[in-house]
Amino acid sequence: MQVKKLCHRLCPDCVGRKRRGEHRDLLSQRPHWSVLRREEQHRQIDLGERVPFDIALPLPAKDRGFADTAEGIELFREMFSCQRCGRCCFTPGAGLMLEKGDYERISRFLGSRKKLRALCRYDRQEGVWILKQPCPFYDRSMGCTIYPVRPLTCTQYPLHPPLKEMPFHLAVDAFCPAARSLAKETLGWWIICENNWARLLQNMDSPRFPARTYRDREMTADL
Ligand code: SF4
Ligand code: SF4
Repeated sequence: MQVKKLCHRLCPDCVGRKRRGEHRDLLSQRPHWSVLRREEQHRQIDLGERVPFDIALPLPAKDRGFADTAEGIELFREMFSCQRCGRCCFTPGAGLMLEKGDYERISRFLGSRKKLRALCRYDRQEGVWILKQPCPFYDRSMGCTIYPVRPLTCTQYPLHPPLKEMPFHLAVDAFCPAARSLAKETLGWWIICENNWARLLQNMDSPRFPARTYRDREMTADL
């Protein structure tokens, strides 16, 4: 975990290397699980259609403390292509939590708070409004009828908070077919992450490591 944290912070151009397709060379040089176990991995990812879970992607999660890690989310946005299937909107569920800004913005768009309230329930414990699901704003032919003012959660979907066991990587909802395709497409990128982790581990074992550069000293200080 410490190595992954360090890797996340230093982010040694991993996003650029993945963007340039450098993993292909590495994959051709030595066997890797993403090639050897591709079918099994694809089967696991496809389970997302029926079983709820999230998938970690080989891209660094956004972290406001380290500006360069925003590159991961940028590459994700460039590559992600919504299939407009509407599954994330019309699937029944527990509801979609509205942020305070969402509530005000959508109310203004509808012309009244009363209209929005009729489509929500209030969670007293959390003190938040929950939009009922399936989403009342979804129209099968038009799609989202409040698209310009849709809730923040909708603008970020299929990104979910990172997994506990992979806290420095982006995570997506496996229920989304476009997210599943992207997860399959980027499996080979893990070889770049793993190479970085191995290199950092080697350096951490070396007595020279703590003094290599000022930045490294700073980054390792709180490990
Ligand atoms: S489930 Fe995924 S692909 Fe389908 S509409 Fe939602 S974001 Fe797009
Ligand atoms: S608000 Fe729009 S994008 Fe969000 S779930 Fe409803 S229909 Fe989908």
